[in-house]
Amino acid sequence: MAKPQSAADLRKQIAEHQANLVRLGEAWGQQVVDALDDADRATIARLKSMLDDLSYRRNTAEGAEQLEAIRKKLEQIRLKAYRKAERKLREEASGLMANEVKWARRILLAFLGYRFLRGKTATPRSTSTDDAELADTWITEYATARIPDASSISAPASRKSGKSSSFDAETIFPEKIPDAISAAEQKRIVRNAVIQDKSWAGWWTHTADADVQRIAETVNQGINEGWSIDQITARVMGTRAGEFADGTLSTNRARVRNMARTICSGIANEAKDAFYRENSDVCIGVEWLDTLDGRTCRHCASLSRKRWKTDEPHPVPPVHPNCRCVLLPVTPVSDSADEQRPAAKADFMAEARRAYEKKHPGKKWEELAESTRKKYYYDAIHDYEKRTGGPAFELVSGGMSFKEYFETVMTEQQRKDWLGPERYKLYRKGLKFDDFISPWPLPGMTVKQLKALDLESFEK
Ligand SMILES: [Zn+2]
Repeated sequence: MAKPQSAADLRKQIAEHQANLVRLGEAWGQQVVDALDDADRATIARLKSMLDDLSYRRNTAEGAEQLEAIRKKLEQIRLKAYRKAERKLREEASGLMANEVKWARRILLAFLGYRFLRGKTATPRSTSTDDAELADTWITEYATARIPDASSISAPASRKSGKSSSFDAETIFPEKIPDAISAAEQKRIVRNAVIQDKSWAGWWTHTADADVQRIAETVNQGINEGWSIDQITARVMGTRAGEFADGTLSTNRARVRNMARTICSGIANEAKDAFYRENSDVCIGVEWLDTLDGRTCRHCASLSRKRWKTDEPHPVPPVHPNCRCVLLPVTPVSDSADEQRPAAKADFMAEARRAYEKKHPGKKWEELAESTRKKYYYDAIHDYEKRTGGPAFELVSGGMSFKEYFETVMTEQQRKDWLGPERYKLYRKGLKFDDFISPWPLPGMTVKQLKALDLESFEK
């Protein structure tokens, strides 16, 4: 990874790092799926032989017992596979935490005013070659990197000038900032940290239990409706014609991938958050960075550019599957309003969907594979640039929140795409951005907001 030379480079690296984390989460998902694929063969073989032996009598105690025995056996086979995959990912998780802390440390130092320099740079304090080697990444380009004043935390837009006047205490030496988090924090993250709504163990138990349950329900239904053994196993396994995507096991694999992505992102973000907390003497707060495009959900938009003191309770990404948000450190010398960030000029996912539906009338966008949807998405970006002759993403102020993006950058079509047709109607009738998002922390609700939320729940 090239070292960032400027604030813009740094922004790009933050985005790249997030994209790489998504890829890692996908790789984790593949690992678990591979482990399950091995177990699937055993599951199916066992299931066939158990169904062969079955003398099932519907609605009798004996029949219920037989079904329970099948469920138990399936559970044993599946849990063994899950446990094997979990052990492997636990090792990867500690490697990931170590890596994320190092990354967070780089970002924190950069946000404290230190700049990466390419190649070797001897610092004034180190004279031996070994020391120079160790210190190659940092020089104090700004002699002003100081212990910040914790009382100065506020929203990025309001901090436009005089940003470094309020602190001139001790100089911060990069080597004093540790490159690891405490063992207690590492343990907490893999044991008790809540990622979305479950702990690490909760995710595994929940996913494995639901997996067994779905298989058992398919078997149960098959027996009750008098399917043949082959029909039952085909429902579980999926059919060759349907590329095995039509079976219960395929649904389970999709869930597994979702779990792996979520815990990967959760572990990474929790590790960074722990690092910021353990260095709260120099990292005075954290700031929620979302993405300025149509794929950012309303929940994440409501957290956009929010700041919390480091030790104040705050949400940690991911807040939903595929959440692209990240917490950045806040220091008085890093004023994001001075920098720039990209903002999408159109809702390319919505554009892609329209292009697809125009080309294939009657076909459903939702039923496309994720990779196909992505292909259409990139095509939409390309088409936009060809059509307009301009870039698909414009650079806006680094401190821009999603609300400002909505109000000042988005086109009317983008607003419509982002809000959806029903909410857009209300927006046209006078409701504002804030009426459509759930603020953090949840305050008392107004009737207007209740109405907007009710509408949303009816859509689902
Ligand atoms: Zn998000």
